This record gives sequence, C-alpha cells and structure tokens, in this order.
Amino acid sequence: MSMLRNIEFATTVADARDLPPAHGLEVAFVGRSNSGKSSALNTLAQRRRMAFVSKTPGRTQHINFFRVGPARYLVDLPGYGYAAAPAATRARWDELIGGYVQTRSCLRGVMLIMDARRPLTEFDRQMFDWLKPTGTPVHVLLSKSDKLSRQQADAALRSVGAALGRHYPNYSVQLFSSTRKIGIAEATAKILEWLGDDSNKKPPVKGE
Ligand code: GDP
Repeated sequence: MSMLRNIEFATTVADARDLPPAHGLEVAFVGRSNSGKSSALNTLAQRRRMAFVSKTPGRTQHINFFRVGPARYLVDLPGYGYAAAPAATRARWDELIGGYVQTRSCLRGVMLIMDARRPLTEFDRQMFDWLKPTGTPVHVLLSKSDKLSRQQADAALRSVGAALGRHYPNYSVQLFSSTRKIGIAEATAKILEWLGDDSNKKPPVKGE
C-alpha cells in the first residue's frame, strides 16, 4: 500500500518565519490558483478530507503540511492568484511561496500543477526562476487533461517538454486528470521516489 494513503494534517503556517524545523523530506505542491492543485492532492492521497483542510477559509493563503510517514511531508503551498491581484498580495505570495521553495533545505522535489490547456503561465516561469539556483527536481502535472483530445494532450505534453528541456534540465512532465484518474500511478511513483518510500517494492524472489 502506498504511504500516501496514511496522510494526516500536520501543521499550517501563515508566515515563512513560522516554518517548522527543516528535517526529514518534503515534496511541495504548487500551482496557480484554479490549476487543479487541491483536486490533484486529494486524488493522489485517495482522500476527500484533505480538501476540507486545505480549503478551510483562512488556510488557502497558508502553507499546509501533511505527514505521510515518519518525517515525510507533502506541503501544500498557497495557490498563486491572478496577475491583476494587488501588488501587496503578489508581494506576499512571492515572499511566502518564493521564500519557501528557494530556501527549504529538506525540499526534495516540486509537483508543479499546470492546467493542460494553459501551461507555462507567468507564475510557472517565475517558479522555475526561483528554483533554478537550487536545482530542485520539478515534476509537472498537466492537469484537467480530460478536457483535451488525445492529439491536443500529446501536443501539450510535447511542447511543455520541449520548452522545459531548454531551460530547466531537472524536470519531468506527464498528463494528469483528477476527474478521469489519468496519470495517478506515474505521479505517485514520482512522489514516492522523492520521499524514499520502498513499501511498494516487492521482496526479492529467491534465485532472481
Ligand atoms: P486549485 O485552486 O488549484 O486547488 O484547483 P481545484 O482543485 O479547486 O480545481 C479548480 C477547478 O477545476 C474545480 O472546479 C475543479 O472541479 C476543476 N478540476 C480540477 N481537476 C480537474 C480535472 O482533472 N478535470 C476537470 N475536468 N476538472 C478539474
């Protein structure tokens, strides 16, 4: 059984100064607001309850930590809002989200959720700029891929792959849909690879 099924809410912080000590391993979920980030988290954890926690009024602008194993966390960062948001609000997102991804020493990888119909937004590019000096691996979920035809989805996959291949070597990308359960195994495997979970590995067969 995947360790993601044992997920439980750990803590919430509104300010980068209040982050818990950086020990263990963390995988962060980031995305523009409405990208499908909460749905992806809930689908991957096979939970309904997490939505309740991460959508609790007041907590959507917090960093929410979910424990999935001993010193292993999924970290839900606030959804980055629209370009038209007031400058002070944008500055706060930059400080909280940018501050976390640039300085968090136990950050093992970033799951970046992009709407497959509108990938590589200004926010997504900002995220890669923040992460570039750290070299943190980024796995892109092209979400809501059920809304695209097979050809459109393949084209989105290729074009995002080509763009990232030129600018951010440590990336991977896949199609994803919470509604149609597309890409769950691939995304789960990536998270478990980063968090060092081996509970899914079969015991070696004698003589192999
Ligand atoms: P968040 O703001 O990034 O956390 O986005 P949500 O997970 O709340 O999703 C935003 C909207 O997109 C909601 O109306 C969801 O029902 C819808 N949505 C999320 N994932 C999918 C998906 O895989 N397929 C489709 N068709 N809609 C989705």
